[in-house]
Amino acid sequence: MLRHGCRVAVAKRFSSTVQRVDYKLDARDIPNDATIFSMIQPTGKFHLGNYLGATRVWQDLCDLKQPDQKLLFGIADLHALTIPKPNVQEFRQFRNEAIASILAVGVDPQRATVMHQSSIPQHSQLHWLLSTLASMGYLNRMTQWKSKSNLKQPTLDAGAIGNVKLGLFSYPVLQAADVLIYRATHVPVGDDQSQHLELTRYLAEQFNSTYKTDYFPLPKTLLAPTKKILSLASPDKKMSKSDTNQESVIYVNDEPNVIAKKIRKAVTDSIMDHFNYDPVNRPGVSNLINIISGIQRKSIQEVEKDVSHMNNFKDFKNYVTEVIVEELKGPREQFARFMKEPGYLDQVVKRGTEEAQELAENNYKEIAKIVGL
Ligand code: AMP
Repeated sequence: MLRHGCRVAVAKRFSSTVQRVDYKLDARDIPNDATIFSMIQPTGKFHLGNYLGATRVWQDLCDLKQPDQKLLFGIADLHALTIPKPNVQEFRQFRNEAIASILAVGVDPQRATVMHQSSIPQHSQLHWLLSTLASMGYLNRMTQWKSKSNLKQPTLDAGAIGNVKLGLFSYPVLQAADVLIYRATHVPVGDDQSQHLELTRYLAEQFNSTYKTDYFPLPKTLLAPTKKILSLASPDKKMSKSDTNQESVIYVNDEPNVIAKKIRKAVTDSIMDHFNYDPVNRPGVSNLINIISGIQRKSIQEVEKDVSHMNNFKDFKNYVTEVIVEELKGPREQFARFMKEPGYLDQVVKRGTEEAQELAENNYKEIAKIVGL
């Protein structure tokens, strides 16, 4: 895997609660006593968006870990139950594959706690407490449950909400509990999760003010350096595992010929003599430039310069393919290796669960006391 220096540097700070992580992370930008928490759903193999928006940042954070920092990375298996489910056996397989995928991108289980969300019951217990503070109006403004249930407008209208399940609607509250049960201070996520992190801070504040405490820190969003990765076929929506057109998604363990085919088919436009970043007028080309920029940890302008001599789609797309294939070679090989070592995966999860359990149990006892339980 190309590592391009695993120095992590958090650069641009556009507010005190959201930090856009720079391509070159710097250890000094994350406090030495930070508790860093994030999760990913086990809904199949990870794609390029998950990689650039989440797991590669996790790996960077592992590389920079300070002795007093805590790193916790989880598989959000309870969240995965809110969307159409695979069969049970497949789901079990996805949970295992998710652990293997995290390790394959270089998350180091000696430095980070790796576990399944469902193994730590305190997530669900805190979810309940927070749900007594979360207003329906606020949850109704969240966009993800609407896009997952194909609803266009905010609505509490019974007819429109129709078959939307409560779990999908209250998913961000569980997500807040996931973060707060560890009293996390930093949450590395991709662009699409900003809104849920705002809700997390809101719920932490609600809890603190309701119970006259300062128990929960307000966790900072650590935004991945790469902007949202979009579907190769419809670059007006994000790359997603659940896309019915699987040609639009590049998986971390796609074989080189599969990647080449998907990039060849990626929607672009009719301008051939130059390739520039213009997300409004050239969303397809811009998405590919964004992908290169993310992988190479270069600014968009640098990538534009690198491709400025190209004057046909064949060369441009071959270049994109080459960059992706080279970057994903390591994770693909490591994934295959880890999948052949189920005993090792179990051992990593067992240790991670014990570590997470201890923290969550202690914190929940304190939370219950604050609430009067
Ligand atoms: P999920 O697959 O929804 O569990 O997302 C796991 C992580 O991947 C989150 O931090 C998301 O922000 C990130 N992520 C998912 N899809 C994308 C995408 N298309 N582009 C960038 N980041 C993404």
